[in-house]
Amino acid sequence: MNLRDLTAALYLDAEQLQGGTRIVRSPIDGAEIARLTDDTPETADAKIAAAAEAFKGWRLVPAPRRGELIRLLGEELRAHKEALGSLVTLECGKSIQEGYGEVQEMIDICDFAVGLSRQLYGLSIASERRGHRMTETWLPLGPIGVISAFNFPVAVWSWNFALAIVCGDPVVWKPSEKTPITALACQALFDRAAARFGDAPVGLSSVLIGDRSIGERLVDDRRIALVSATGSTRMGREVGPRLAQRFARSILELGGNNAMIVTPSADLELAVRAIVFSAVGTAGQRCTSLRRLIVHSDVYDTLVPRLKQAYAGIPIGDPLDKTKLVGPLIDRDSFDGMARALENAAGEGGTVTGGRRVLADQHPDAFYVEPALVEVPAQTDTVRHETFAPILYILRYDTFEQAVALQNDVPQGLSSCVFTTDLREAERFLSASGSDCGIANVNIGPSGAEIGGAFGGEKETGGGRESGSDAWKAYMRRQTATVNYSDALPLAQGIKFG
Ligand code: NAD
Repeated sequence: MNLRDLTAALYLDAEQLQGGTRIVRSPIDGAEIARLTDDTPETADAKIAAAAEAFKGWRLVPAPRRGELIRLLGEELRAHKEALGSLVTLECGKSIQEGYGEVQEMIDICDFAVGLSRQLYGLSIASERRGHRMTETWLPLGPIGVISAFNFPVAVWSWNFALAIVCGDPVVWKPSEKTPITALACQALFDRAAARFGDAPVGLSSVLIGDRSIGERLVDDRRIALVSATGSTRMGREVGPRLAQRFARSILELGGNNAMIVTPSADLELAVRAIVFSAVGTAGQRCTSLRRLIVHSDVYDTLVPRLKQAYAGIPIGDPLDKTKLVGPLIDRDSFDGMARALENAAGEGGTVTGGRRVLADQHPDAFYVEPALVEVPAQTDTVRHETFAPILYILRYDTFEQAVALQNDVPQGLSSCVFTTDLREAERFLSASGSDCGIANVNIGPSGAEIGGAFGGEKETGGGRESGSDAWKAYMRRQTATVNYSDALPLAQGIKFG
């Protein structure tokens, strides 16, 4: 499907995609696909004001009824999975299977949120005073700002949006300036769900088009109670302190530098498959992409040649073609960053296999690369830095302690995994002295998390959690209430006063 077909299939306003100054290009061939009009400070303010107004009514709607709106959104997503998945691929360049997978993730979180809308449980707490009852209740928080990255242009919004809406909070979304069309498509699908729902307030969901300056409006606006910001650690360093300054809540989902430890007892067949998917999937542009491989000396000389062989056969090309597993990088900057990292790694004694630009004659304005394997003698600063491209650094280890120390010795703390059939090693990896990451897997690669668990990471990854488990609590405020139904006024801690 081309953009014109997708525009119609996803109810996009064709006029809204033309006439503006923000040029949107497809990384598939570098061609211009739309020109959008950016929000101005005034239009952004109006959307935030509408969200604040919507909150007044939406917080009073019973949560299971709020869940009905998300159920309807899930239906729209099911009906439009192919079109929206194709648009994801067209706009951010991930393989079409991953485009569909991203929409499936949205459907899954909608299902999760619908169930959650009947389970926003509080607590009943034993009071130390006679004739008193103490409870903890979760109440809607306020309008939520979502800032998202280009590489998961729609799923990250849905993780936040589905939970926020059932929790009673309107959402204002600032998508990546590289992928604004998918955001407008999500809004159009939501509008259809809202029309079927009947009485959803205006301003419950809106999209801000623009770059970081429009994102800063969300960050600095006191009407926005929480900002969930996904992107680079650089962005988090700017956004985090600004939010803290006005005591707003934040969920920061920032860069990763994810590792796999391959032990002597590992099933190497499984390991190779997991390595290839997690290192080259989405052309290495997942926050959870595998970036560091830490291999025991006993299996190094078996594993690494098998990996090189597997890499040599990876089909690279147009991501809309189902037979291609690796699509393009998002843009020239990304390619330049990859070339720089490979040059630095080589200068530090690394041996590079792959990493060359391909298909440049066919697509002079697009950036397809061979995924690179780099055998490095040590974990240098280049290895410690997240380069958002398909580079896999390979390190050797001799003792398990050494492997875990290498795995943890980076500034980021998102995802990690160990391949082992040794129960002790697996349990040590998951223990307090094991992986320091928010995600730790055994015999599974570091990428491709399910929505049921809380997603996020430690250290420079920002500490935020979103999606499943009890991540919903960040979108609500906790109220502790004590009711005295006795005819006395006993004070806590037995204090006598007068
Ligand atoms: P980016 O930081 O360049 O941009 C992300 C978003 O932040 C964009 O919408 C951008 O406009 C906005 N932004 C940037 N500076 C801002 C500021 N000062 N104030 C307000 N908004 C601002 O990231 P990117 O290149 O789009 O995405 C790649 C990065 O995102 C990688 O580092 C990747 O690891 C990370 N990422 C993390 C997760 C996660 O869950 N941890 C998920 C996806 C991507």
